Amino acid sequence: MALSGLEIYKLLPKTNCKECGFPTCLAFAMQIAAKKAALDKCPHVSEEAKGKLESASRPPINLVTIGSGEGKLEVGNETVMFRHEQTFYHPTGLGFIVEDNMVESELIKRVEKIERLRFERVGQKIEANIVALANTSKTRDKYIAAIKRVLEKTKLNLLLICDDPETIKASLDIVKDRRPLIYAATKDNLDALLSIAKGAKVPLVISAPSLEDLSELSEKAASGGLNDIVLDSGKKPISEKLEDLTYIRRLALKKTYRPFGHPTIAFTDAKDPYEEASEAATLIVKYASIVIMKCIDHPVVLSLLTARQNIFTDPQKPLQVEPKVYEIGNVTGESPVLVTTNFSLTYYTVESEVESSKVPSYIVSVDSEGMSVLTAWAAEKFTPEKITSALNQSGLKDKITHKELVLPGYVAVMSGKLQEESGWQVKVGPREASGIPSFLKGKKK
Ligand code: SF4
Repeated sequence: MALSGLEIYKLLPKTNCKECGFPTCLAFAMQIAAKKAALDKCPHVSEEAKGKLESASRPPINLVTIGSGEGKLEVGNETVMFRHEQTFYHPTGLGFIVEDNMVESELIKRVEKIERLRFERVGQKIEANIVALANTSKTRDKYIAAIKRVLEKTKLNLLLICDDPETIKASLDIVKDRRPLIYAATKDNLDALLSIAKGAKVPLVISAPSLEDLSELSEKAASGGLNDIVLDSGKKPISEKLEDLTYIRRLALKKTYRPFGHPTIAFTDAKDPYEEASEAATLIVKYASIVIMKCIDHPVVLSLLTARQNIFTDPQKPLQVEPKVYEIGNVTGESPVLVTTNFSLTYYTVESEVESSKVPSYIVSVDSEGMSVLTAWAAEKFTPEKITSALNQSGLKDKITHKELVLPGYVAVMSGKLQEESGWQVKVGPREASGIPSFLKGKKK
C-alpha cells in the first residue's frame, strides 16, 4: 500500500539539512509520495526506514511476466476484490494442456489447434495465452523432444509441468529465452527448483495442498531471492479451490499478507467439456490469474474468452468504436445509410447484421460516449442535434445521391425532430439488430 507524504516524513531524519536538494524533509517526503523524487537522494535515511519504504511501495500482488515479446502474459498486480470497486487490470491467462506421451502427429495437431484459438470480438483480439506441456511420460528424452515440437509450432507462452528438477534444467537450456513458467516447486523439490528458476530468471509456481503450507513455501522462496512466484493450492474440488483463491486474494489485498502477494494458477478437473467450461469461468471470475484446461473446442474457448473480456473491461469506460462513417461492402451512391451509437457491442451487432444482409451500406456511428441506443437517448447523448452534427461532419453528401437515413426502431420517437433538424428523410428501422437483414433486403426491392 503506498504511503502518504506525512507517513514518509515520519521515517525521514527530520534535520532539514537540504542535502537532498529540497528545503525540508517534509518537502522531500511530499515529492517521494508523488513519485517525483527517489529515496536515495537522502544520504542520512536509516536502513530500517529504507526497508519500510521499499516494502510499502510494492504492490499488494506482484506483477509476474510469463513469456517475452509481443504475446507475453502479465498477471497479478490487482488492487481490488470486486470489479465495480475500480477495475481488474490483468486478464486471466488461459492455457491448454499438451502431454509429452502423445503420438507426435497428435501432439502437433493439438498445438496447432491451440494456436488457432484466436478470435475478434467487438473490435478486440481475444486469444489463448499458454501451451502447458506436461511430462506425463516421466522421461526426460520424450519431454525434451516434445518441447522442440511445441517450439516449432507456436509462439504462445509456455508452462513446463514437470516435477523432476534435472529435466526442468535440461528443458530450460532450450527454452529459457521464451521465459516459461515452471510448474511446480513443492516441499520436496523447492530448493532445487528455486536455484534453477533464479539461475534461468524464469517464474516459478509454488504448490502446496493447504494454505498454511503454501504460505510457508512462498515465504521460503521469497527469502531465497525469488521474486517471480505464482501460487497453486493444488488439485481439489472447485468449491474448495474457489475458497482458497478468495482467501489468498483477500489476505493479499486486505491484510497486505506478503506470502500471498503473488498471482495464482488453477487447473480445471471436470471430464465433461461444459462442466469444465463452467469450472474455468468460475476460476476466471474469482480469482485465478492463470487457468489451465484440457478442452480446446472452439465454442467452449470462445465463451470463456468472451467472459474474460467482459470481466477485465473497465466498468467505468464502456468499449467504444471511433465515431465516424463505416462502409460495409462495396457501397455506391445509392447505398442505405444507417445510424447508431459508438458503443462497441451495439456497433458490431449492427455491423454483423448489415454484413449478413449482403446489402452494402454506410453506418454512421455517433459519439454517444460508449452508450447503447436507448441508454444514450435517455441520457441525451443520442439526440437529433448530435445525429445531425455527425451527418454534417460525415462527408456523406459527397458520396451518396440520396438523403435518406435509417434510425433504430427503439428511438422512433425522435424521427420527426431529426427530420426537421437534419433535413434528411428519416426511415424508422427495426427495433432489434436481428431485423436489419430483412429490412435492408425489403428496401432494395
Ligand atoms: S537530505 Fe534527508 S535529512 Fe536532509 S533535508 Fe533531505 S530528507 Fe531531510
